[in-house]
Amino acid sequence: MKIGALEAGGTKMVCAVGSMKGEIYDQISIPTEKPEVTIPKIIQYFKTHEIDCLGVGCFGPIDLNKKSDTYGFIKNTPKTEWINYNIIGNFKEALNVPVGFDTDVNGSVLGEVTFGCAQNLDCVVYITVGTGIGVGAYINGRTLQGMMHPEAGHVLIKKNIEDDYEGICPYHKSCLEGLASGSAIEKRWGRKGTELEGNSEVWELEASYLAQAIINYIYTYSPQKVILGGGIMHQKQLFPLIRKKVLELNKDYLTCNELLDINTYIVPPSLGDNQGIMGALELGRKAYIHCKESSY
Ligand code: ZN
Repeated sequence: MKIGALEAGGTKMVCAVGSMKGEIYDQISIPTEKPEVTIPKIIQYFKTHEIDCLGVGCFGPIDLNKKSDTYGFIKNTPKTEWINYNIIGNFKEALNVPVGFDTDVNGSVLGEVTFGCAQNLDCVVYITVGTGIGVGAYINGRTLQGMMHPEAGHVLIKKNIEDDYEGICPYHKSCLEGLASGSAIEKRWGRKGTELEGNSEVWELEASYLAQAIINYIYTYSPQKVILGGGIMHQKQLFPLIRKKVLELNKDYLTCNELLDINTYIVPPSLGDNQGIMGALELGRKAYIHCKESSY
């Protein structure tokens, strides 16, 4: 079986064809322009490869409610040309194969649970810290969707008293994304994160904000593993700082084995930046199985 996988991002669309075992046979990247330009290229790629099903992990917010009239639509995104775009409907019509759909970060957590460092776990949280901050949650064996999907990059956190930066989020100013995303780092310090590598003040502050959010996710979701990916997390010096600050915030309240072995509890992704596309393969496989089962 040939599975199509799409990791739909705000700057690029990563398309791949692979197997249910996570092998990737072919992969390309298409720049994200307006839908009329970008989507036909993606459709052509998947038609050429004669896929049997497709999995899509998509930037959001998106409508994941199958009972909704706008299921499969991209919602209120800052990329205005994509607002209310029926991405899944268009793929279904053009490709005529089962299509699985979830957020990009839920796709990443699914990739790690299926093929990576979180195999055999039931509850896992995946945080991506890049231009924005997104959180995917895999809870009791499935990615978390409810009213819509978690938007835990926008949780409200306490601002450091010495931080006079107001925050970049257009909705909440000083939510987690407003204070700790790559865009916030660049605005606060006047330079990109990659140019601030040796400045310990930057990473102490960054770790303190991420640790606040993570302790809240730990208390809320009770994850067995917390995975931190995205461009900002390529600053590996963040990991020991975050682990230390999470333990300080916990104040020995929770005493689970996972927290005692924190170096294997709060970890980077294990699939070399392929976790999103491999999660999309699994979304495609699940859609295919679901379609087969419901047709009997
Ligand atoms: Zn916000």
